[in-house]
Amino acid sequence: MDCIFCKIVSGALPASKVYEDEHFLAFEDIHPKAPVHVLVVPKKHTPKLPDFPDNAEGQSALGALFATTNRVACDTLALDGYRLVVNVGERGGQVVFHVHVHIMASFLH
Ligand code: 5GP
Ligand code: ZN
Repeated sequence: MDCIFCKIVSGALPASKVYEDEHFLAFEDIHPKAPVHVLVVPKKHTPKLPDFPDNAEGQSALGALFATTNRVACDTLALDGYRLVVNVGERGGQVVFHVHVHIMASFLH
């Protein structure tokens, strides 16, 4: 599969990792738009946020994505204020079609 984030997940491409568990990886954005700019990605390839089905499985995957985002922002990065962004579709500014949550903040504590 020709997906940059799948290649980062598999280790085929390098990234500055900040968090990893069985299902998720978080790493620094290569072109940061804020002093702290980290991407949280599910290891399983899903192109866009609305591709998660509106059923128990999809809700569980979405819940896990945001629970992991909380963990990375609050515990790993120790942020107490930050912005989350999910771009959806080309017209929504999405460039990499592998679901990811941007964590952006001004300060590390
Ligand atoms: P999108 O616009 O799809 O929501 O955001 C994609 C993000 O991925 C961009 O902020 C971009 O800088 C970042 N990005 C693209 N390619 C790479 C890469 O190879 N490595 C890393 N660490 N980030 C990348
Ligand atoms: Zn992918």
